[in-house]
Amino acid sequence: MEVKKTYVGHVLVVPYPSQGHINPLLQFAKRLASKGLKATIATTRYTITSISDPLVTVEPISDGFDDRGFAQAQSEEIFLDSFKSNGSRTLAQLIKKHQATKHPITCVVYDSFFPWALDVAKENGILGGPFFTNSAAVTAVFSRIHGRTLRLPLRLEDCPVVISGVPPLSLDDLPSFLNAPESHPGYLKMKLNQFSNLDKADWVFSNTFQSLESEVVKCIREQWPAKLIGPMVPSAYLDGRIEGDRGYGASLWKPLDDGCTKWLKTKPSNSVVYVSFGSMVSLSQQEMEEIAWGLQESGFYFLWVVKDSETHKLPKGFLELITTQIQETKGMIVSWCNQLEMLAHGSVGCFLTHCGWNSTLEGLSLGVPMVGVPKWADQLTDAKFIADVWGVGVRVKVDSVSGMVKREEVVSCLNEVMNEGERGLEIKKNARKWKELAKEAIDEGGSSDKAIDEFVIALKNTCKR
Ligand code: UDP
Repeated sequence: MEVKKTYVGHVLVVPYPSQGHINPLLQFAKRLASKGLKATIATTRYTITSISDPLVTVEPISDGFDDRGFAQAQSEEIFLDSFKSNGSRTLAQLIKKHQATKHPITCVVYDSFFPWALDVAKENGILGGPFFTNSAAVTAVFSRIHGRTLRLPLRLEDCPVVISGVPPLSLDDLPSFLNAPESHPGYLKMKLNQFSNLDKADWVFSNTFQSLESEVVKCIREQWPAKLIGPMVPSAYLDGRIEGDRGYGASLWKPLDDGCTKWLKTKPSNSVVYVSFGSMVSLSQQEMEEIAWGLQESGFYFLWVVKDSETHKLPKGFLELITTQIQETKGMIVSWCNQLEMLAHGSVGCFLTHCGWNSTLEGLSLGVPMVGVPKWADQLTDAKFIADVWGVGVRVKVDSVSGMVKREEVVSCLNEVMNEGERGLEIKKNARKWKELAKEAIDEGGSSDKAIDEFVIALKNTCKR
């Protein structure tokens, strides 16, 4: 079938191999395929079997740790260095392999964590551009550090950091590595390297949308030709224009089948709190206990994603307690689920989230009010926006003595968001507004849709020459 199809260009999309990066880049690949491009995902040998979608082809490259990926590496730095050397070599081989076919690769869209992929593209005479998976605000903060207008480590006296169009950012609102650069030296170096060769990129893609970050975007655009193409959420939840596009098509963990939706069906509308800390956060035992007792004491139903590696931190007897209360199941704990389906379910009234950027965009796009419990990296900045810029949720306050979120705080935030008080109603109204704006951006003629079309047309024109 593929042989007969005429494509207007062939894009090779290269995600960083974690769930929060594969999802938006794969979604972008699908969007491009729906607009007439051939789209191939190049992913590590370890993750290749986790990705499958009828619109895209998946091909392997190597990070040098083909058996277990990141888990095999001794440190972040070793992993990233190995990825650079092995990834460059195998990406070049993949491009060359396609050069002799009917559909040679015409452009590489790579995760902004891999500036080396642009060098590979250019060495092979093809176009390329990074895909930023963070908010534009977070990108702007890191670019200022790269440009040395902000110096590390950031201290209290350096704050607030002012970015035009954004409320002043305190230390608690800034990505966590910045006041402790030594905590993740490998990641920090990678975040700053994102900007090292941007001047050579043909395009810069950002998973956000015009109305969401209109002011920040102005200052980003002064520096690079950024194309805002988000939110990269499966089409069924937004514009519905990509047939059958109901999920990302990638899962590094096996989601529970229809058990969650069956359980949700038994609950009244807007009565359940969906809780997830994403794919990377690991809570301490005490933090886990406070969240657990907070959920229990709130009295709301809850559906909580606790990865298998974390379940041992749940309080003793907690599982038994929540499943036998008043003869009905108050809470459900699953090791992984299809998050979008949960957020889209009418019984879910609130998303208690770690504020990863994908989760934030998903909550916004599906109009679900949020309680932000950010833990590290860009999650702190996303939480600030959720609470104070878009007004679609609240952010928990961390106890000043223990440095933890206490159960009373969890209860109070859930009450504020779930109940129909003044703030709760305002949050629900804003959530409905942003859901519409997200849909509008990606729907036909919307700002992101136009930006994607411009890219497709430009690529088509280059291929004709
Ligand atoms: N996710 C999922 N099932 C779960 C938990 C999370 O499918 O049980 C998905 C979620 O929809 C999101 C991604 O995993 O797309 C997590 O990305 P995010 O940027 O929110 O956080 P990260 O995992 O990178 O910290």
